[in-house]
Amino acid sequence: MPAVDVVVVGAGIVGLATARAVLRAAPGTSVLVLEAEARWAAHQSGHNSNVIHSGLYYAPGSHKARMARAGAERMIRFCAEHAVPVRRTGKLVVATSPAQLPRLDALVARGTANGVTVRRISQAELAEREPHVRAVAAAHVAETAVTDYARVCAALVAEITELGGAVRTSAPVHRIDITDTEVVLGLPQGRERAGALVNCAGLHSDRVARLSGIRPPVRIVPFRGEYAALRPHRSALVRGPVYPVPDPDLPFLGIHLTPLLDGTVHIGPNAVPAFARHGYRWRDVEPRLLAELARDPAVRGLARRYWRYGLAEFARSAIWPLFVRDVRAMLPDVRGADLVRHGSGVRAQAVDDSGRLVDDFVITRARRAVHVLNAPSPAATASLVIGERVASDVLDELRRS
Ligand SMILES: Cc1cc2nc3c(=O)[nH]c(=O)nc-3n(C[C@H](O)[C@H](O)[C@H](O)COP(=O)(O)OP(=O)(O)OC[C@H]3O[C@@H](n4cnc5c(N)ncnc54)[C@H](O)[C@@H]3O)c2cc1C
Repeated sequence: MPAVDVVVVGAGIVGLATARAVLRAAPGTSVLVLEAEARWAAHQSGHNSNVIHSGLYYAPGSHKARMARAGAERMIRFCAEHAVPVRRTGKLVVATSPAQLPRLDALVARGTANGVTVRRISQAELAEREPHVRAVAAAHVAETAVTDYARVCAALVAEITELGGAVRTSAPVHRIDITDTEVVLGLPQGRERAGALVNCAGLHSDRVARLSGIRPPVRIVPFRGEYAALRPHRSALVRGPVYPVPDPDLPFLGIHLTPLLDGTVHIGPNAVPAFARHGYRWRDVEPRLLAELARDPAVRGLARRYWRYGLAEFARSAIWPLFVRDVRAMLPDVRGADLVRHGSGVRAQAVDDSGRLVDDFVITRARRAVHVLNAPSPAATASLVIGERVASDVLDELRRS
């Protein structure tokens, strides 16, 4: 007999939201979250822009569009109910050259189709909202908010515990055997037995899927996002989140300006191919990952398709004035001396078998298991809704088996 009904691998925001959703949907179900690191939210969920996205960018009908729209309101309510700070800021998207105007208009149309309150604004309104931002044109999005996702994770852990679940840290899962009757997980401390498995391992989700005996349709390629911050005496240059018009061929939003809840103005992230799954710095290199990627024909396809973009990002990461130049395109008053480096995060970006960056969330089912294989931004925004969907799938697996 398994000791627990559902085991969740990974205590990031998606794993924690899933554990909570299982406990709420099926009271009495036993749930254990296993986290490799000594604390929860150690990777993507604790190293991001802390923005609650509106659902502006995503293809209508996609998981991202539906789950971000529904998830944003749920996240704002969750924060209010759990004493997690949250501020409805709205945001601006700015075109810095005439060539970007058609893309800005397309974005406004897409956001409107997704039910987002977004409109083009005049130069006078731009100057009133953000006196230091320069743009050829701008759009205003009403629904955007800013929070602290690490604190959201802490609140989720508290609720899981209250509902009778458990979160165990320093528990890296290194083996998974799925049999007709149970899931057996190998840990340095011994074995855990469960009725069903949920894989929310983020940067390791493809590896965990392979450990469980399936061949996932995607592999994870890590992309580092580096941040700068305005020196405190220059923070008044930015009042609310300001985003560039994104490149429609890439799933990244571009370097944006985000005043965080503590007043720091965060600037970034770029998207630099990383040499390790935990590649927070240039010098973090994981030979095993590089060997895996080099052998993979899909990754060679990715390199052929995006090499120009990759080189430009390496350059912008290594050459500070190039980073500053891109910030100055939106915020011309800023000088290199006004910026300091401010940490980084690493995105778990799925790449499909044909070498394309996968834009939408990917959630798959196997016997006694549900795998979250692509949960990049805005998965923190959408986490409560993703968690409910995954919980419903895993409870179904549990009932069937
Ligand atoms: C730079 C950056 C900026 C972003 N900005 C935003 C934003 O503003 N808004 C937004 O909505 N989203 C944003 N995102 C995306 C968001 O952070 C992620 O979508 C979300 O955090 C994913 O959560 P997760 O639980 O899937 O992954 P993670 O938080 O990475 O959690 C996975 C966990 O699994 C654990 N794990 C892995 N392998 C094992 C194993 N074998 N055994 C046990 N545990 C294991 C890891 O240690 C980790 O803690 C951003 C991401 C980045 C990197």
